Amino acid sequence: MQKWVVANWKMNGSKNLLNEYKKIFQKHEKLIVCTPFIYLGESAEINLGAQNIHWQPKGAYTGEVSASMLVEFGVKYCLVGHSERRQHFHETNTDVRAKAETCLGADIMPIICIGETLEQYEANQTHEVLERQLAECLPRGQGFWIAYEPVWAIGTGITPTTDEISEVHSMLREKLPNTTLLYGGSVNGDNAATIFSMPNVDGALVGGASLDMATITKIYSASAK
Ligand code: PEP
Repeated sequence: MQKWVVANWKMNGSKNLLNEYKKIFQKHEKLIVCTPFIYLGESAEINLGAQNIHWQPKGAYTGEVSASMLVEFGVKYCLVGHSERRQHFHETNTDVRAKAETCLGADIMPIICIGETLEQYEANQTHEVLERQLAECLPRGQGFWIAYEPVWAIGTGITPTTDEISEVHSMLREKLPNTTLLYGGSVNGDNAATIFSMPNVDGALVGGASLDMATITKIYSASAK
């Protein structure tokens, strides 16, 4: 079965890159591209996701974007609680839950990111940290996705071992049997096939490697095998 590929451009990309995506990935149902807000109105031909959302429906929140605005532009997915938002914008588990609930209320699929820091990993606290994040971030209601993204694997070129990914994903599967589970953190053209071959991994969240057309195409091909 084909697995999901969710591209996270972060604060990168351009209209040109979006046009390349449109050429290659239109009507590819299992690819979602999370672009900066400004590009979200540009395409109905591919699945677009936001990288953030505000939990209030409207108001004096300069610089923020609401669920109804995303819906107006046909956005169906939204990353919530990415570690870069937690780190640079001080988002807490409480914020993450509020954002996820806002998504659910607007029929936007929240892709809730969880993961341990290097310090926590080295202290063998991965499961404990993930369990706390699940307890505090999950919205009331069904219909969210989870992306397991060890913070130390994001943008570093380092990934957990396949055993470590499998172990976390089987724990997640046990707790959330009907939830789509993504792995994210330094997925690239060389390791994607191995990651997609894991039984409890339903897809990958891909950051840096999604900015290069040859690489994202290779990853997408691996997701279909
Ligand atoms: C991400 O931004 O979610 C991510 C996984 O980044 P990278 O693939 O660059 O590690």
